[in-house]
Amino acid sequence: MIYIPAGKDKTRKRSIETIPDPGLFHISLSTHRGAAAVPVVSIGQRVKKHQLIAQAGGAVSAQVHSPASGWVTDIGLYPQPDGSKRETVVIQNDFKETKEEVIPTYPGAFTSEEVIQAIADAGIVGAGGAQFPSHIKYRTGTNRIRTFIINGAECEPYLTADYSLMRQYHAQLLQAVALICNVIQPEQVVLAIEKNNKELVPIFEPYLQSLPVPLSILQLQGGYPQGSELQLIRSATGMELQRGIIPATAGVIVSNVGTLYAIYKALYEHTPAIERIITVSGNRTEVCGNYKVKIGTPISHILQTLGISVPHHKVQLILGGPMMGWTVDDHSVSVSKGTAGILLLEKRELHPYNCIRCGYCVDACPMRLMPFELAEAYENRNKSALKELKLTQCIECGLCEYVCPSDVPLLESFRLGKILTNLR
Ligand code: SF4
Ligand code: SF4
Repeated sequence: MIYIPAGKDKTRKRSIETIPDPGLFHISLSTHRGAAAVPVVSIGQRVKKHQLIAQAGGAVSAQVHSPASGWVTDIGLYPQPDGSKRETVVIQNDFKETKEEVIPTYPGAFTSEEVIQAIADAGIVGAGGAQFPSHIKYRTGTNRIRTFIINGAECEPYLTADYSLMRQYHAQLLQAVALICNVIQPEQVVLAIEKNNKELVPIFEPYLQSLPVPLSILQLQGGYPQGSELQLIRSATGMELQRGIIPATAGVIVSNVGTLYAIYKALYEHTPAIERIITVSGNRTEVCGNYKVKIGTPISHILQTLGISVPHHKVQLILGGPMMGWTVDDHSVSVSKGTAGILLLEKRELHPYNCIRCGYCVDACPMRLMPFELAEAYENRNKSALKELKLTQCIECGLCEYVCPSDVPLLESFRLGKILTNLR
């Protein structure tokens, strides 16, 4: 765990504002974990706001809905933040806001299965970045859940989307937590926040006795990557889980606050996952804040709305946080359900593999991997070495790259290495 200058003061106190909807939405069908969603609309078709436009493409997948009413103008391959091109539905907004009710109004008391089905119907995926379909997580089977961790630890520098959500929507958040408690029946609930956000404690204290099970607030020491699932489980329960182990099998479920807010919107406001809160910030922009934005909104629209220009030679635009996010040159890419921020940072040049074997990356790695050896293995396209060095255990936190004095592009090597070896 390493202390990284947070840079959050620029946006911490900013209330959540709304980015007006764009004229064109680019809604990717494969930003969630698992199989791509399959379109159920065709080019030229009229759609309503909330209408299902693509259905889950497999057991692990998610539904996709229209963020506005209008027309489908294209279904084709469009650029993604990772540089690939994937199937995307393009919707022309008619700004009429004609809605379709897709999430049914349940009677006062929901059965567990009704709640889980509504979460699936709403296309809710993890908002913390992993974008794993949430309904699967809450189908716990025979696993006894001891601890339900609410992840409010937003450890990436600059990002304050979760913080602003906790300040502004704490009552809604706790309503969703109570609902999920009825489904997964945990023995305890732990709200994990960072110690330097301790002003949130009095906001949540009135709720400590209001849930069906005891709620405690865990104040984490600052440091990165405190908010990653495995680190959080270690901090809250003392258990060290390997990456790839399903936490529910160890009696733990972790949900990000953004995911829980999406659950509130689905179950209490009958709204599928068509928007999220993002932070716009960075050391190369004076314009910053926390914003509600529709899924599928192109980055170019957000930049234009806020009057932000991006001189490519000086500024690096990152989708997500500076540690785990994607550097994006094509601003036609759009916001997904896992996009936590748009950052404008001073451009940093990474250099091809020129490791000086200092070992700093090894000391920094929270998963106890050998980052420089992994990078060398990728450089040599040595698949068996990548497997032996446990590339699958890499949580892509970016700490190794952050501490590297030679600016070796370690994170990119690991992401490409996982594609090369088909290990994710
Ligand atoms: S990105 Fe992977 S290898 Fe690098 S520090 Fe994080 S877990 Fe370790
Ligand atoms: S920190 Fe950078 S230079 Fe040092 S061993 Fe790791 S990859 Fe090599």
